[in-house]
Amino acid sequence: MRSLTILGATGSVGSSTLDLVARHRDRFRIAAVTARSDALGLARIARTHGASFAAVAEPAAYEPLREALAGTGIEAAAGPEAVAVAAARPADLVMAAISGAAGVAPVLAAIDAGITVALANKESLVAAGDLVMGSAARRGVSLLPVDSEHNAVFQALAGSRMEDVETVWITASGGPFRTWSAEAIAAARPEDALKHPNYAMGAKVTVDSAGLMNKGLELIEAHHLFALPPERLKALIHPQQVVHGMVGYRDGSVVAQLGAADMRVPIAHCLGFPERIDGPSRRLNLAEIGSLTFEEPDLGRFPALRLAIEAMRAGGRAPTVLNAANEVAVEAFLGRRIGFAEISRITEAALAAEGAGPAPATLGDLWLIDHAA
Ligand code: MG
Repeated sequence: MRSLTILGATGSVGSSTLDLVARHRDRFRIAAVTARSDALGLARIARTHGASFAAVAEPAAYEPLREALAGTGIEAAAGPEAVAVAAARPADLVMAAISGAAGVAPVLAAIDAGITVALANKESLVAAGDLVMGSAARRGVSLLPVDSEHNAVFQALAGSRMEDVETVWITASGGPFRTWSAEAIAAARPEDALKHPNYAMGAKVTVDSAGLMNKGLELIEAHHLFALPPERLKALIHPQQVVHGMVGYRDGSVVAQLGAADMRVPIAHCLGFPERIDGPSRRLNLAEIGSLTFEEPDLGRFPALRLAIEAMRAGGRAPTVLNAANEVAVEAFLGRRIGFAEISRITEAALAAEGAGPAPATLGDLWLIDHAA
């Protein structure tokens, strides 16, 4: 029996995790759950899965959470500190599925508590890669990659020596604008950007995917996760999203992981690791799919990917600034205050103004850089 805490339990990855937990009641029990502001949704999850602790990040959501949990014996708490407390409560595994830089502090809290982290929060590695990886190394804590591409690479690496790895590819669907002109992309509305061809995900990652910023963030995530230099990391457009990641070795072999575009595949891998557990995803029928196609990403039409690659190469605080500016710009786009092309323009301007300097060594540094950006 493994105990599991889910940070971001009401989101897309949280829901997929709970779906798997419900199918394996004999293997997993839920310790703590957190959400940003959906108190009623969180209370329902906590009751259904018998959690002992539930926390909302939004202080205003405390009263409804407390009321909904009254008489259940489930402890209710609120505020960002309460989310970090949830992350550090005794558990065998923490599923870190909070979106954005808000996920960094809870991830660090879980690591400090010595708990294995299944990491779906890519922004924590983009914004604070050295800090998070350094803490995990010091504490001897394993990070299991949930992001489908990184999970694929993790599987394709299969414990190989990193010095034998020549190239790592992560794939991208290309998003809803893959075939659009630069002019059409610039005029895209939130409802256009929110139409991901293969995955149903949260709004932030879906907009990031539309501009290929998501792939840029994922390159930086892979750079930290696998300690690979930028020149060995490549993004590849693959509209069918059957191959999720590939590792090329010095002997010329390339090992790929394939599977349905269903987050329950990588999540099941993390939940069961190092064993395998039954997963409900649609089985791959390659004869039915027929052909798999690949293309180079177009950095001209998708400047966000170019910015992320430049930030990864520059290192230091550049990725932190990239992440912060992008996060704010995506929110402004979703709120219809700026156009789609402005997201990368604003991010580029923030990088030019604030991108030089050392990487954050503490959470305090991180918030200073984040706010400056
Ligand atoms: Mg991904």
